[in-house]
Amino acid sequence: MERNKLLPTVAYFCMEFGLHADLPIYSGGLGILAGDYLKAAHEENLPVVGVGILWRKGYTRQLINEEGSPYDLEERYSFDSLQDTGIKVQVEIGNQPVTCKVWLVDRFDNVPLYLLDADLPENKNPWLTHHLYRGDPTGRVSQEMILGIGGIRALRALKLDIDIYHFNEGHAVLAGVELIREKMAQGASFDEALMETKKEIVFTTHTPVPAGNEEHPHGLLCSLGAYNGLNYEQMQRLGGDPFNMTVAGLRLARLTNAVSQLHRETAKKMWHNVASTSEIIGITNGVHRKTWQDPEIHRAYLEQKSLRPIHQKNKEKLLEEIRRQTGCELDPNVLLIGFARRAATYKRGDLIYNNRERLLPFLAGKKLHLVFAGKAHPQDEAGKETVRRIIALTKEYPESIVFLENYNMRLGKLLTQGVDVWLNSPRRPMEACGTSGMKAAMNGTLNLSTLDGWWAEGCRHGINGWQFGEGYEGPDQDTVDQNALFQVLEHQVLPVYYRQPDRWEGMMRYAVENAVNHFTARRMVRDYYEKLYR
Ligand SMILES: *Cc1c(COP(=O)(O)O)cnc(C)c1O
Repeated sequence: MERNKLLPTVAYFCMEFGLHADLPIYSGGLGILAGDYLKAAHEENLPVVGVGILWRKGYTRQLINEEGSPYDLEERYSFDSLQDTGIKVQVEIGNQPVTCKVWLVDRFDNVPLYLLDADLPENKNPWLTHHLYRGDPTGRVSQEMILGIGGIRALRALKLDIDIYHFNEGHAVLAGVELIREKMAQGASFDEALMETKKEIVFTTHTPVPAGNEEHPHGLLCSLGAYNGLNYEQMQRLGGDPFNMTVAGLRLARLTNAVSQLHRETAKKMWHNVASTSEIIGITNGVHRKTWQDPEIHRAYLEQKSLRPIHQKNKEKLLEEIRRQTGCELDPNVLLIGFARRAATYKRGDLIYNNRERLLPFLAGKKLHLVFAGKAHPQDEAGKETVRRIIALTKEYPESIVFLENYNMRLGKLLTQGVDVWLNSPRRPMEACGTSGMKAAMNGTLNLSTLDGWWAEGCRHGINGWQFGEGYEGPDQDTVDQNALFQVLEHQVLPVYYRQPDRWEGMMRYAVENAVNHFTARRMVRDYYEKLYR
């Protein structure tokens, strides 16, 4: 396809890309956003190139053992479908030259994705690009040097003309340091170089959870060579001390976007004390319709036909997977609620199950089935304990609660298409956006969620899904939200499901309509071009 030369060419940097379950170089929401972004740019014929890392061993394949504990499998993928660009670039890490081979994922002819790979015989540390999000801070900074510094060098070696560098999350900010170094090597002062570099960078900020906004000590950055020719004073001006990757992103960018309208307010409050940061606008995430929406649902929606029989088929498909994995037979006529998330505390998967007194009557009365899925980070013991607790619960109530192991894109699709209700219970305002609920809505699966992330703008209560908790924020939020969850479940969700099938059908239609009109990746990339890249 001919490139569109009237629009700026954008290099989109991200630590992970979730394009397909068979290219396991992603962990979760961030990568899926990046993958959906590339797919939409491809369809809209927008001049975008992606820059990422080839994670030879992926994130983790996490299964559950006989005792009900999660364990991680070590796997090495072969990635047969990648093209060798013949290009190698070098990054100096801890006084060692690290060579990175540049691979091309050419699934989207007009939108190439370049992946850096340090797993080469000439490298002393070939494992640097093995595991996504694993290891110690030294490893992490080394990987961020490969993505940022190596990424820019790859674009230069490929002789690509880039107008805008888009850092999706702070992992990529060392690319900004490389852009500054390049200009200083041409004779610019630091201030001149920074001013010019700022014109070229835009930044997307993500989670407001503090641990998700990485900080590194200057000693570590300096000894690894992440200073890249800059000095302490200059690096400190970018990221502070300790060096905060998000702060550096906010200071390097000419414009930043938050990933939902509520997140924009949260991010502004979070960073308002930090000087010299860019303006933050809100561009709500979207999902790639053709990846996530069942084509039959799409057709029935357009032809104004009933969605329910198609949804029921999708539910049967999910029940089949549940049977295959767990041996449990769930009744297709019982309301099925799905919850699939990383085992992170603020997501509060336990909100529905830690009040047994209120949950049990629904289970005993065969009013409700629950399906859970989600990985814990391989080094997160508390997260693994959360998974163990859910597994223990499934053993207590095998007729009504099940857990599916190794949550990935394939399961994500099966779940968001196959459950009746998608439960989302983050502690507001910690969910920056959340995209799985958009996938659900697009398939006529109704959201039941706190007013956080995208749902704060997407929810029309009782029309396209339900909210609970009214957006309340306070110290007793968990109690308030839990009460509200059971109230809404008992008095609204269950009665409509069992007694007003026509109303349910109508809500499904509204859910699809709202999602395809406002929460697609196509709308998102158009917004990027209009509001962020302008
Ligand atoms: C969509 C998706 C996510 C992101 O969804 P959230 O709502 O942000 O949790 C994470 N993991 C997988 C496998 C997905 O498909």
